[in-house]
Amino acid sequence: MKVATNPHSLPRYCDASLPVPMDQPFTYALPETLRHRVKPGCRILVPFGRRTLTGVVLRTHDESPAMAAKLVLRLLDEEPVLDEGLLALGRWIAHYYCAPLGEVLRSMTPLGGEIRRSKQYSLSDAGRDAVRQLLLGTPGEDASVTVLRALEFRSLTALAVAKKATGGDKALAEKTLKSLAKKGFVSSEDLLADRDPLRAAAERLCVEFTSRPGAVKLPKAERELIAFLELHPGAHNLKTLDNAMAGASQAARSLGRKKLISLTVADSVLARSAPRPPHELNVWQREAFDAIRASIDARGFKAFLMHGVTGSGKTEVYLTAIDAALAAGRGALLLVPEIALTPAMADQFFQRFGTRVAILHSAFTDVERAEQWRRIRNGSASVVVGTRSGVFAPVQNLGLIVVDEEHDGSYKQEENPRYNGRDVAIVRAQQAGACVVLGSATPSLESRYNIDRAKYALLELPERVESRPMPDVEIVDMRQEFLDTRKMAVFSRRLINEIATRLEAGEQTMLLLNRRGFSSFVTCRACGSRIECANCAVTLTYHRRDKRLLCHYCNYAEKVPEACPKCGGEHIQFIGTGSEKVEQELHQSFPTARIARMDRDTVTSKRHFETILSGFRDRDYDILVGTQMIAKGHDIPNVTLVGVVSADIGLGMPDFRAAERTFQLLTQVAGRAGRGELRGRVIVQTINPEHYAIRCASAQNYAQFYDKEIEFRKAMRYPPFAALANVLVRSQEQAEGLRMSGELAALLVPPPENMRILGPAEAAVPRLKNEFRYQLLIKAANRKTLNETLQRLRLHALENKWGPTALVIDVDPLSLL
Ligand code: ADP
Ligand code: ZN
Repeated sequence: MKVATNPHSLPRYCDASLPVPMDQPFTYALPETLRHRVKPGCRILVPFGRRTLTGVVLRTHDESPAMAAKLVLRLLDEEPVLDEGLLALGRWIAHYYCAPLGEVLRSMTPLGGEIRRSKQYSLSDAGRDAVRQLLLGTPGEDASVTVLRALEFRSLTALAVAKKATGGDKALAEKTLKSLAKKGFVSSEDLLADRDPLRAAAERLCVEFTSRPGAVKLPKAERELIAFLELHPGAHNLKTLDNAMAGASQAARSLGRKKLISLTVADSVLARSAPRPPHELNVWQREAFDAIRASIDARGFKAFLMHGVTGSGKTEVYLTAIDAALAAGRGALLLVPEIALTPAMADQFFQRFGTRVAILHSAFTDVERAEQWRRIRNGSASVVVGTRSGVFAPVQNLGLIVVDEEHDGSYKQEENPRYNGRDVAIVRAQQAGACVVLGSATPSLESRYNIDRAKYALLELPERVESRPMPDVEIVDMRQEFLDTRKMAVFSRRLINEIATRLEAGEQTMLLLNRRGFSSFVTCRACGSRIECANCAVTLTYHRRDKRLLCHYCNYAEKVPEACPKCGGEHIQFIGTGSEKVEQELHQSFPTARIARMDRDTVTSKRHFETILSGFRDRDYDILVGTQMIAKGHDIPNVTLVGVVSADIGLGMPDFRAAERTFQLLTQVAGRAGRGELRGRVIVQTINPEHYAIRCASAQNYAQFYDKEIEFRKAMRYPPFAALANVLVRSQEQAEGLRMSGELAALLVPPPENMRILGPAEAAVPRLKNEFRYQLLIKAANRKTLNETLQRLRLHALENKWGPTALVIDVDPLSLL
């Protein structure tokens, strides 16, 4: 009673959005201790049914709800993780992409998961002593021993502890951690707590000598380290020291704890190379930059499309524009495709902007991402480089957003919420009154069309830097090659010749085949049937190194059968060519050549990717074979030949963007040739030499391709002439899937005005991961009606209590499979 009459009373409730498929916020009561601390945009831990969920506070208030509200369990952020602008952006995404707000907000915050995962455990001093004693004896290993040992050198999450110490048993790991914490051996902390250098990875730590220790007696390793640091003044990277001096990492941490040396966390995990002065902009770059700067200075929203041919120096324009934004006291955000964010790329940014840069990458751990996030939010990092989700970085006073390779498919998230980072970037810039630059050598049809509609302004870089020539492109008709040689060869005589010339000259070659595996499918010669995945309606691909057949959709694998599973026939045939076979054939043709392969089978991690690439850059290899991974953004001056083994692979896809994708891939990969002093040549092998995508890419003629393709889109009412949505119904029961898709179709009869509905029909992949899939493709002239229609379909699924994954709504889909 007293509280209610107090004029200074604090809000007693908050509405929070939870990561559940429902749209409405949920009201929770605030414990007294939290009333003055909970703000909109903060994350809280709340009970929900029998679960505990992380929600985002939308507002606090004093309106008693009809039903007794449950109490908030915990406040996770003292400062909001999402400010008002980002909350508004989240609402826009939820509405536009027909996704539940809670799921959108969750994917916008740096730590996607539950709080449990973000709790980090480490040894207390007592725990350390206990471990030391354990090391002296006691062979009997119960869980508390293995857990203590796992934590000896590093702090870990409960999940990581489970993996290392309890054979994957997470419940046991948690129970053990709890009891160890009670005994005072283990302490825990939120990942968002202040970063503690003692816990950072060695490669991120710098060590420096501070003062001579007094009379304390130190272990040998620590004495040696001190002696070394004293002799070599300045900061040393701990990882490097550790490689040179056994036990340096441990010794440094121990000395750090004793405050005998200084330990600091480096701002980046990435190495820095010697600084390179900025290039003087050429006339085209200058013209583009001047337009961007004028718009930054005008402090209003403006969108540019920067169409610059491969090697035209787009990055230099970005860097200079970011400089201008910083000089105007504003922050900048650069988005790059997933595959393009290599250390080499990040390095350019460190050289230019030093510690003002934050890099956001999905390969980083939650801790690292949370740290970067905090540096951005508190303004110490004002330049952010990130992949898709980087668009949500809390950059202060945002003045410029650059989306590099704006046509790239990796900007689209292929799981809920299915947003496109490029399009979200436009909306964010609009809200922030910022300038946005979309850059590409092959702009998407949608973006280029926005020039025609005067929504974006066009910036052109039509020439390569320093007047370097565009590569010569030569098409080899593989049908003719077959007629001439009577052989179904992987390489034409022409391509073989060109590779041989490069090997002699010590120049490098890149070979693209956009299909991994050895052969693309396996058939029985007797009955003609193809071997399919047990879970999906797709053929399996032969992987020779692993001697097995693999599903590229669900990773199902089986041994190569000795006989046809259908008819028992013994003649199993391997049809088609994948990157693995290209590599093998190369070894046969050029036994002494040094060959590297880059595709999803050889590249299992980010680091791995960079190792192969930098090896190629350092000329450890003569030839790099790969899938589309090799096509993007890499700038390797000694590459003078690019070969496209088969330009036809993408053309046959049942997708209206097949031609556009082929054009983009061929243009981009051709652009890898001749980027240094030496002139480049490109050989394109194809059985469709007249196809306009192949012809225009070979001529490096974007304008011609655009004119042709835009006519097709217009005639067929495809984007950008219609708003498209793909509605997918999934069920393990075929009958149920059919019924549900029928229900949705019935809701669309008669079709809303200016809307065309294709289906319901089987999806292009009718069964995937053991689910049957039915599809409705909606083309609408009007976005508003499309959105209303989709919301109706969603409501139907909610009201009829469909399973959480049964209905997929994909607005502006990039994949129609
Ligand atoms: P793009 O992204 O347009 O394909 P890059 O930005 O990778 O091209 O630039 C290609 C190369 O040209 C890079 O090595 C870059 O350092 C260099 N470069 C950029 N601008 C200039 C310039 N004005 N003069 C000379 N070299 C430049
Ligand atoms: Zn499968």
